[in-house]
Amino acid sequence: MVDIFGSMVDVRPGRAGGPAAESATVSSLRQRNRGQVLAHILQSGRTTRGDLARECGLSFASATNIVGDLVAEGLVHETGSIASRGGRPIAVVEPRPEGAYLIGADVGERGVAVELFDLSMTRIDREFRGGRDEESPETIAHDLDDALAALRERHGELWPSLVGVGLGLPGIVETGPDGEQTLYAQSLGWDAVAVRDLIHADVPVFAENGAKTQAMAELWFGAARGVQHALVVLLGRGVGLGIIADGRLQRGATSSAAEWGHTKIERDGALCRCGGRGCVEAYVGAGAILDAWRNTGASFEGSGWNAIGELLDAADAGDPGAVAIVDDVLRTLGASLGSLVNLANPERIVVGGWVGLRLMERLGERLLDAVRANSLERPGSAVDLIASTFGGDSVALGAAIMPLESLVREPLAR
Ligand SMILES: [Zn+2]
Repeated sequence: MVDIFGSMVDVRPGRAGGPAAESATVSSLRQRNRGQVLAHILQSGRTTRGDLARECGLSFASATNIVGDLVAEGLVHETGSIASRGGRPIAVVEPRPEGAYLIGADVGERGVAVELFDLSMTRIDREFRGGRDEESPETIAHDLDDALAALRERHGELWPSLVGVGLGLPGIVETGPDGEQTLYAQSLGWDAVAVRDLIHADVPVFAENGAKTQAMAELWFGAARGVQHALVVLLGRGVGLGIIADGRLQRGATSSAAEWGHTKIERDGALCRCGGRGCVEAYVGAGAILDAWRNTGASFEGSGWNAIGELLDAADAGDPGAVAIVDDVLRTLGASLGSLVNLANPERIVVGGWVGLRLMERLGERLLDAVRANSLERPGSAVDLIASTFGGDSVALGAAIMPLESLVREPLAR
């Protein structure tokens, strides 16, 4: 289960002195149990009170009480029953889709995708804005507000149940002591941007680095669910990573942990968009891969999904230029991810992002071989490597998990 309370202090009753402190700890404990039960129902999609008691370490009576509270909150409901061994029917509990709504936005270098989810995390609507050659904080802010207004126009009746908006952003997102968040998008050449200037919403706004929100999506609902130690790789135009250790996403001292795209693979190597040299992104970012292919004299359509597909097709057909580039990408990824395996000792590497998904369509085995060839035998043999569960929309889905976590931490004030 996702440990969303990992940073909270131990609040077992009776630890702190005085009746007031005791009552505060009891209510914290109730809140924590409520959160655990709700998170489990959301993640499993379908469960029973008995399962909840077992999974959350609660008595059957406590689990029953909490489910009752969540039914009263409108967040879960009974959807039928299954037969028990004794023949007595056992009620099935599921998230109530219309119980709450969440918005997640993927803010990229080529536009914004703003997606509306119900509480079963089914996407019910989507707005895309973009198509410019270059984005700026001002164009992003304009597009986010515009997309949000369009969704509200169509779904105004849901707004009272909207928990908040999560933004997956293309850079480091820091949270100050006052809770104010700031985006540092060095690779895009932007000055520091206050998140509150990026979107104007009358609901809570949460922001995080896009690679980290992708990792959240995989951790809650995808290929990293139930995995205690994982690397969630984002390969697209930008190159990013989420590190999961002890079941939790790692953020570091100021939230820039796992900026893998800007770790060095070559001393004094290729110039990177961040201004540094020899960064991983300067070799395996979509731009770098396609530039290398273009330099062999190849001509192809566009700079996205189809172009990478054409490169892989050409390599499969034996085109020597394409073969050399694909080999090079695998060797670079193998060396860099192999080093990460030695550092982090993950059980699993999840590969996502649109370039990553294209590579995983046919090169997953070769990539794992390259990783193992570049890691020590023991940690190398302990890791597997699979494609991400969620495709191109994982950043938006992961961003919507930020308001979802806030709902898990405390009830929505309606
Ligand atoms: Zn860099």
